[in-house]
Amino acid sequence: MTTENLPEARPLSELAGASSGSEWLARYQDSLMGVFGTPQRVLVRGQGCYVWDADGKQYLDLLGGIAVNALGHAHPFVTSVISSQLSTLGHVSNFFTSPTQVALAEKLLQVTGAPSGSKVFFANSGTEANEAAFKLARRNRGTPEKPRTKVVALEGAFHGRTMGALALTAKKAYREPFEPLPGGVVHVAFGDLDALAAAVDETTQAVFLEPIQGEAGVIPLPAGYLAAARKITHDAGALLIVDEVQTGMGRTGTWLAIEGSGIVPDAVSLAKGLGGGFPIGALVTFGADNSARLAAGQHGTTFGGNPVATAAALATVHAIETQGVLANVRSVGERLRSALAALPEVAQVRGRGLLIGIDLVGPGGDGTAVAAGANLAGAVVNAALEAGFIINAPGPRTIRLAPPLILTAEQADTFIAALPGLVATAAGQLAAAEKETT
Ligand SMILES: *Cc1c(COP(=O)(O)O)cnc(C)c1O
Repeated sequence: MTTENLPEARPLSELAGASSGSEWLARYQDSLMGVFGTPQRVLVRGQGCYVWDADGKQYLDLLGGIAVNALGHAHPFVTSVISSQLSTLGHVSNFFTSPTQVALAEKLLQVTGAPSGSKVFFANSGTEANEAAFKLARRNRGTPEKPRTKVVALEGAFHGRTMGALALTAKKAYREPFEPLPGGVVHVAFGDLDALAAAVDETTQAVFLEPIQGEAGVIPLPAGYLAAARKITHDAGALLIVDEVQTGMGRTGTWLAIEGSGIVPDAVSLAKGLGGGFPIGALVTFGADNSARLAAGQHGTTFGGNPVATAAALATVHAIETQGVLANVRSVGERLRSALAALPEVAQVRGRGLLIGIDLVGPGGDGTAVAAGANLAGAVVNAALEAGFIINAPGPRTIRLAPPLILTAEQADTFIAALPGLVATAAGQLAAAEKETT
């Protein structure tokens, strides 16, 4: 084939077509499966911590694609590394390797503090990283006389949506339509060490934990829980697998949320922020024994460890390391948490670094101004969009922030200043809607 026969390059707008926001949404309804509900906006462009919709409106992105856009949007270093890798070598099968794949594995072993003999498996998403972790757990088989068959996870856990990860996820609404799920998984009460100790025995293959449950509303494990869970699993011969898909790669101000807990886990899953917006997941197995549990041929993936995805992650990690990003996460996170906690509209602030959960009271601190069952947080999300902020509501009274790790103090301050007004607007809209229906 000669280049003369190649189709003429066309601008993206010609390939995709151009429509207004409402036209795109109508086309979405007719062409996309309805699993996500109606999209809130049609986004067309991003720069740093801001995105723009199809109608030209600007938003401060305080959700970062759900803890994904670690360096914001269109980061010049990350985009240049991705495009140069793509124009050099875009994909090879896993019959081959590539320099970025090896370099990223080495880098992840370094930043996670994994001991010698540790290894990395690359996947494409959080749920796939956890599928690999689940298969790793299944390889902790015990003996023919005393087989291990049980896996323990926590109430409130979110580990993903594919069948194995879904079996680890606690929420009934996500699980029940798809039963039977892979068996042997039990869920124990969150934060309850007695319940964990009672559930873990010589038949247990592994315990799965999130250091901070993100999807449940940014709920951290109680102090001392990780260390005690490590002891319980170690004593029973069970693996301790930590899901850092949301909390990892600098989100909490350290490379891993478990840093400083003193524990050495058996494996850690990563995804969301790892590729700075490019899809990639990883499972890091700690120590030589765990790294040998999955033998040649026992697991695999076509796209996992792809040169472009690993280049994106390598660039993201490099930028975080060299640009003072972790210090920024700690200082801007602390500034947000302390200012938000001081607002009368706020009952409680949870989380660490730039993963923040905010429980709302009501306008001016008046909890009686909003009906008990009303979705105040959902109404605040809508009011925030109108005011140019992207946030998220994991519960009816809870807001989650997971902004780019490069969020500035000034950008954070604009949201702190706006929140009381957003709560008042939301409460007003809920009251008006209530009146209309009664
Ligand atoms: C988002 C998330 C997952 C699933 O990741 P996907 O990339 O959506 O499959 C798993 N575990 C945790 C803790 C998460 O936050």
